[in-house]
Amino acid sequence: MGTTAKPVGAAEFVPADADLDTVRAAAAGCRGCDLYRNATQTVFGEGPADASVVMVGEQPGDQEDTQGQPFVGPAGRLLDRALGEAGFDRETVYLTNAVKHFKFAERGKRRIHKQPSRTEVVACSAWLATELELVAPELVVCLGAVAAKAVLGPSATVGELRGQMVQRPDYRITATVHPSSVLRAPDRKTAYADFLDDLAYIRDTTRQ
Ligand code: SF4
Repeated sequence: MGTTAKPVGAAEFVPADADLDTVRAAAAGCRGCDLYRNATQTVFGEGPADASVVMVGEQPGDQEDTQGQPFVGPAGRLLDRALGEAGFDRETVYLTNAVKHFKFAERGKRRIHKQPSRTEVVACSAWLATELELVAPELVVCLGAVAAKAVLGPSATVGELRGQMVQRPDYRITATVHPSSVLRAPDRKTAYADFLDDLAYIRDTTRQ
């Protein structure tokens, strides 16, 4: 087997001076890394173009890949429920992912999630950067470690960011776990309660 070539990255597919819909359409044709090859389609962010809160997950899952929308599978349903219980309206939040194509391994008929590599996250970062530039939120919420590292760099950890706000010139940043980790947690009830606490903290600081 030969060595894997460095991805060209998404940047050369991002149109200049474009609005969000134009950028979304361009992302559908991205070939910035190899993940487009096996996935069904690009799953771009969704939500109001002027949302004050952007939530960033890791990558689309199996159902997101087939439906073409972020957070529509089991983790998305848990996120919806938690957002509602924490007093957020999902319709007011812009939801996206650090990586826009589903990475998976096939096991029989099932497609099992595989975590994107740092190289793939970096290759895809131009889409997320463009979304953040165009939406211009007040707050970015990283859902899970991959999102935290995509937004803040490789040393960022959810443990350090939970319940904290990092002030950046354009927006504040915080983090909580990815809702899929709540689904996988041995003590799901406690994990969900902790997730709700994080969202309540985010809601309270957003309304100040
Ligand atoms: S994962 Fe990102 S960089 Fe790679 S092909 Fe998909 S949209 Fe492009």
